[in-house]
Amino acid sequence: MTATLVDGKALAAKVRAQVAEDVAAFGEPVCLATVLVGDDPASHLYVGWKHKASAEAGIESRDHRLPEATPESEILDLVAELSADDGVDGILVQLPLPGHVDESLVTSSMDPAKDVDGLHPINAGRLFLGQPLHVPATPLGVMRMLEEYGVELKGSEAVVIGRSEIVGKPMAMLLLAEHATVTLCHSRTVDLAQHTRRADLVVAAVGRPGLVTRDMIKPGATVIDVGINRTESGIVGDVDRDVAEVAGLLTPVPGSVGPMTIAMLLSNTLQAARHRRLGLAVPGS
Ligand code: NDP
Repeated sequence: MTATLVDGKALAAKVRAQVAEDVAAFGEPVCLATVLVGDDPASHLYVGWKHKASAEAGIESRDHRLPEATPESEILDLVAELSADDGVDGILVQLPLPGHVDESLVTSSMDPAKDVDGLHPINAGRLFLGQPLHVPATPLGVMRMLEEYGVELKGSEAVVIGRSEIVGKPMAMLLLAEHATVTLCHSRTVDLAQHTRRADLVVAAVGRPGLVTRDMIKPGATVIDVGINRTESGIVGDVDRDVAEVAGLLTPVPGSVGPMTIAMLLSNTLQAARHRRLGLAVPGS
């Protein structure tokens, strides 16, 4: 069997065009502020893409870039300023932050109504309780792809590999909400393959090239590769290329989950603007 490859670029373009249309119809400025601390080249690249995509969708953006050695207190002050600024609808703090900064302190210090990355405890808690508002863009983009390709989730066996706050955990919650039977695997999971082999859907979000091999996949399964790994032969995911010979549906890396993440960030920013301007309060904010 040769897997159908998900065209994430085409779907992302469709989502972005819809957001652009909705931003124009909204009739008021929509603004995303990003905060980037340090010199990580990949982070600079990602933030650059986010600004370009925002501009194309008619979303204004503010670009705050701070030196690596910026004290935690200054970052907290900036986040507080952006939270209080009525002209800012969404705030995105690009992770990872330098080692001397407590990431969870920074994300939980922002106004949850503007937390377009969905990392504030209020937003994470809302997802857990089945009342989602801002959901992390990567798992949201995966759900949109699964919907577009008609993947049946109800009653299916889903295995998520990776339990980060930004991908693995929210991914598991979203799949559970769609009535999949979800197994969440991580670095201490004993015999990963034993879990993945029975899965109708595998989502790999680890950051290890070649972690998922063809013998770990049930023939015809859907395999979503979130991983981004820079190797000598270019950017690869967590899933071996020859998984395409057994999977039914597969996301190529690069060019699938990445573009969808940016598209869903724009969608979250518009959602944040709508909620704030239409006076829909976020509990706890
Ligand atoms: P984290 O490093 O925060 O989490 C990685 C997870 O993988 C952890 O839960 C860890 O387990 C688990 N893990 C590590 N080794 C193994 C193993 N051998 N077997 C099973 N599980 C393992 O990463 P992120 O969630 O932030 O990102 C994951 C990947 O996705 C990265 O490659 C990242 O670049 C990419 N990414 C891609 C995005 C996109 O838009 N395409 C967006 C965000 C991330 P434990 O908790 O036990 O340590």
